[in-house]
Amino acid sequence: MGTLLKEYRSQSSSRVYEILEPDSGGDPYCTCPGWKFSKDSPRSCKHLVEYHREMQTPQQVNKGVSMPVDVDEPIDTEDVFEKSITECMG
Ligand SMILES: [Zn+2]
Repeated sequence: MGTLLKEYRSQSSSRVYEILEPDSGGDPYCTCPGWKFSKDSPRSCKHLVEYHREMQTPQQVNKGVSMPVDVDEPIDTEDVFEKSITECMG
């Protein structure tokens, strides 16, 4: 069905939800009901949010090896928007 990327144990039950990467490629998905019934596009859930956060901020820093950072920071559109409003208002 896909490649298992990460497992998250439910806090309210003994179920384990899986973050999976589709064999056909594309965005990873989760097996929890939250994802299934998500109205977001693309679908999301707390596990996927947590997964993406872990991907962005590695918990373990490699000893003595500095990782090259070549990720393009997305422009903070909200900040730009706010700034333009402030300028309009003088
Ligand atoms: Zn989930």
